Amino acid sequence: MKVFHISAECYPVAKTGGLGDVVGALPKFQRETGIEASVVMPWYDKPFVRDHSFTSVHSGNISQGMQTHSFEILKNVNSLGFDLYLVQIPGLLDRAEVYGYKDESDQFIAFQHALLRWMVEAEIKPSIIHCHDHHSGLIPFFVDYCKEFSTLKGIPTVFTVHNGEYQGWMPWHKALLMPEFNSDAWGLLDWNNMINPLAAAIKCCWAYTTVSEGYLEELYTQPQLGPLFLAEKDKAFGIVNGIDSAVWNPEQDPSIDFNYSLITVTRGKKENKDALCKEYNLDKNLPLIAFIGRFAGEKGADLLPGVIQQIIENAKGKVSLFVLGSGDPLVEEGLEKLNRDLQQQFALVIGYNEALAHRIYASADFILMPSRVEPCGLNQLYAMRFGTIPIVRATGGLKDTVSDITSGNGNGFLFVNPSIEDCVKAVERALDFYQNSPLKNKLCKSNMKLDYSWKKSSQKYSKVYDLLIDKL
Ligand code: ADP
Repeated sequence: MKVFHISAECYPVAKTGGLGDVVGALPKFQRETGIEASVVMPWYDKPFVRDHSFTSVHSGNISQGMQTHSFEILKNVNSLGFDLYLVQIPGLLDRAEVYGYKDESDQFIAFQHALLRWMVEAEIKPSIIHCHDHHSGLIPFFVDYCKEFSTLKGIPTVFTVHNGEYQGWMPWHKALLMPEFNSDAWGLLDWNNMINPLAAAIKCCWAYTTVSEGYLEELYTQPQLGPLFLAEKDKAFGIVNGIDSAVWNPEQDPSIDFNYSLITVTRGKKENKDALCKEYNLDKNLPLIAFIGRFAGEKGADLLPGVIQQIIENAKGKVSLFVLGSGDPLVEEGLEKLNRDLQQQFALVIGYNEALAHRIYASADFILMPSRVEPCGLNQLYAMRFGTIPIVRATGGLKDTVSDITSGNGNGFLFVNPSIEDCVKAVERALDFYQNSPLKNKLCKSNMKLDYSWKKSSQKYSKVYDLLIDKL
């Protein structure tokens, strides 16, 4: 079975969050089960692309309105454990960042157009086209309703919702940039008088999946597309993400200061914490709570300044916090102010730093995730793999993977309301728990043993593929 994953991100080529992690890992595990999985993504001016060799396997042209763009498909076979294809389009897909450009819609329309043209011209017929998030959401529609791609019609399309908040909305005049489609089908692109690639994907794909079962339930009541997710419920599957335990492995992680195993975790975490605290001027003898992620409403990042201030006040300074992330300028400002006032207790790094994230997972006692929306959440899984205890809001994938310590064999601390008060209460329960070292060390170890490998989840994807192929 030949599967093409289509995505804007793939670790370690380009990653801004969980999408990159999943697309960088799932194909590797699928290959182990005999699926010939490959990834197709845009070309970015990134270190990985500059440092690895690629072969040009195809070139062609696409038109966008009055403009013609030339494109090239570059292939790398040996670096990632699966074949990687990059779509390069001078002037559109030749930039340093993954997102954030004014002409983002034009970029992703061209990406999808060019890769389908390549498949048609090179007569490539995968068994499944697996699209990820709205950046590849137009593909199921294009395959069904563009004459240009008629030879691909009938190939089953799977669409995975990694984050349903971002939908790729664009005004209707952007339709002029798309490959010519059957105009009777225009309604499939539309949601509230805009082109909505996520909605189009849900309407047109053969099956859609979400990155946890809990998140699938939440999508049914999502204010914007809830009715659509519900109407297409019969083709929906919730499959929780796995983690790449080769990349996230405290025994061999090259980014952390001291490697450790299940047996040496207590000492190993202490040594990592000592080194990190020394570097960031924190007291190594205090419990360390960390947040890593985007400063966005979804992540509850706006609660952080209030939560941090209150935790430090209530604990009378007997706690340290570390925040790594960037995003909402108001949150950045609030945290920077707090950082100036509380330098001994609070370390802040604004930005994206993969290696530092690994060091924090290895050093922290607790990872804090006050998310309002969390489709799966990978931070809590990485944290547990590193023996770090999660304190999370009970939502989406967090609810599916973390159960409260009070529930018998719980693995972390849960709170229900996305409020400063509830979050602080959960942190205080965790800080009390921290005082009981034997119990805390036992939990670190049992969390490290939990199985969040891709094995089970990739089997579930295989079942979805089989189901669709059986329909042919
Ligand atoms: P998202 O909604 O952002 O995709 P996930 O929990 O699914 O959230 O995935 C987050 C991934 O991004 C994790 O691998 C996490 O370690 C990483 N990450 C997030 N922010 C940063 C940052 N500022 N620096 C380094 N890694 C980060």
